[in-house]
Amino acid sequence: MENEPERTSGAGVRADISVGTGADIADDEQAGSAADIDVVVIGAGIGGLYAVHRFRTDGLTVQAFEAADGVGGTWYHNRYPGARCDVESVDYSYSFADELQQEWDWSERYATQPEILEYLNHVADRFDLRRSIEFGTRVTAAHFDEATDLWNVTIEAARTDGAARGRRLTCRHCVFATGSLSVANFPEIPGLGDFTGRVLHTAQWPHETVDFTGLRVGVIGTGSSGIQLVPEVAREAASVTVFQRTPNYSIPAANRPIDDVERREQKATYGERRRKSRLSGGGSPFIPHEKNTLEVDAAERERVYEHSWNLGGVLFSKAFPDQMRDEHANQLAREFAERKIRSVIADQSVADHLIPTDHPIGTKRIVTDSGYFQTYNLDHVELVNLRRTPIDRITADGPVTVGGGDEAARLHELDVLIFATGFDAVTGAMDAIDTRGRDHRSLSAAWSDGVRSYLGLMVAGFPNLFLVNGPGSPGVLANMVLASEHHVDWIADTIGQLRSDGRRSIEPDENAQDDWMAECARLADQTLFPRADSWYLGANIPGKPRVFMLYPGGFGNYRKVVQELTDAGYEGFALR
Ligand code: FAD
Repeated sequence: MENEPERTSGAGVRADISVGTGADIADDEQAGSAADIDVVVIGAGIGGLYAVHRFRTDGLTVQAFEAADGVGGTWYHNRYPGARCDVESVDYSYSFADELQQEWDWSERYATQPEILEYLNHVADRFDLRRSIEFGTRVTAAHFDEATDLWNVTIEAARTDGAARGRRLTCRHCVFATGSLSVANFPEIPGLGDFTGRVLHTAQWPHETVDFTGLRVGVIGTGSSGIQLVPEVAREAASVTVFQRTPNYSIPAANRPIDDVERREQKATYGERRRKSRLSGGGSPFIPHEKNTLEVDAAERERVYEHSWNLGGVLFSKAFPDQMRDEHANQLAREFAERKIRSVIADQSVADHLIPTDHPIGTKRIVTDSGYFQTYNLDHVELVNLRRTPIDRITADGPVTVGGGDEAARLHELDVLIFATGFDAVTGAMDAIDTRGRDHRSLSAAWSDGVRSYLGLMVAGFPNLFLVNGPGSPGVLANMVLASEHHVDWIADTIGQLRSDGRRSIEPDENAQDDWMAECARLADQTLFPRADSWYLGANIPGKPRVFMLYPGGFGNYRKVVQELTDAGYEGFALR
């Protein structure tokens, strides 16, 4: 099924530019106000692929660069066993072409990573997107030239010894479709380099099957990836040791195959499904109960929780409309979840470690699992609570945990150590590019006290630089396929407007940006989200400024706000 595309050299690019020709920076000092290309897109995941399609359809010249050797982004990189979407496949798919919706058959309610990657390769082929993408190529810098209003983009081979020289091209517009979860986070643990076993990271998983049969496997991290992975590894491994720093809420996926009858029904009602999704808080066609938690009696509450629980996964956080705002409401939902989780764990002292007590339910992404908690009923699966007995160092044979309570210091001998430790989320990939706007000011400097953007789409001082699912947009709080389509459509419409008005650039006003970030903070403060040390706040990355990085007002409301500001003549933006 793996569909590794051949590396292209940007065959869709105008012949006179240097991309793919091997020209280096020294040979390529182009100046003047004519751009090599209209739009450079960085990344060929769900957002970048649609961007290439939409901009080309609008008659723009487009060049995309992708560090990986194939399309798919998240679904190219995260090949670990158990990887699945947690928004239903039928909703977690493009809406821009009805013929695509009608011809693609999802096999399960929540598709596996191979099936999603196959779908994205199908999209790339069907819309002939590969000819505009250069694979194995990383964008390392993007500098704005105030004299020409163009971006100078520097690209390098993604896998080099650091000696390779960059190539450069100019573009009028630059689109960062670099992904919210695309920079893997490796915690610094002393001695990791000494470990003689195999080290893996869920977000950089090898392409070949990893056989765990007979091996002693350790997994560090119990977020989404770890929780999806552990039951799969436990099926093969001789032993599994799960190192947990923070327990997370996880809810059964209620996954099942989609049969022909259901598929026909879904395809016949796609229009309505999408309409509801675009109006909803999370970008899928589900709405909470019409009443608040305490406006119904205990029996009705139990019925609603049970229904939401059976819908599966993240949908539980939408049981009642006040669940993410009201502490008491959240506590009742939390207690229901705790009862459910305890009921499938044989040893209640293990359950005590597995059930979170440090954050309201839903303030960290609720994981969608397939038999995670039951895995701890197996004799060969052990939980190590790092809050009690942290890892002191890693030795040649495995991690050593310090003693704590009645537990002695201990060496955990392993053959394989898997990091399921997540990402430098939302901003990691954007920050990694040396991006300079007006006055040569860097994006990292602009974000040094916390991320700032206007609508999650643009940053003041960085004209014609567009973000897909940037900080300050609903991003990872929504169905990211529809969220990406929304951003790309706005960017394409905006570029079209600039061109038809004979303008060269657009950028947000500082004041509008300040007001937007204040609005995001105000809305976040009305929720329970800031109560959790989550990656939504950057809490998993040492030194990252703590800012709630997303717009928590709901996908439907966000779309409405963006539309109103745009209709009001791009309020908050300066167009030149
Ligand atoms: P990505 O898919 O991350 O693609 C970005 C691409 O940009 C990457 O391929 C990267 O290599 C490339 N790139 C980055 N920087 C550079 C550079 N400087 N130069 C060149 N290339 C670069 N979201 C949901 O809404 N529902 C789900 O069910 C869901 N499940 C998920 C499951 C997992 C295991 C993970 C990790 C994430 C999941 N997500 C889910 C979030 C997911 O990231 C998004 O849904 C979506 O795939 C993001 O698409 P994207 O194009 O924005 O970014």
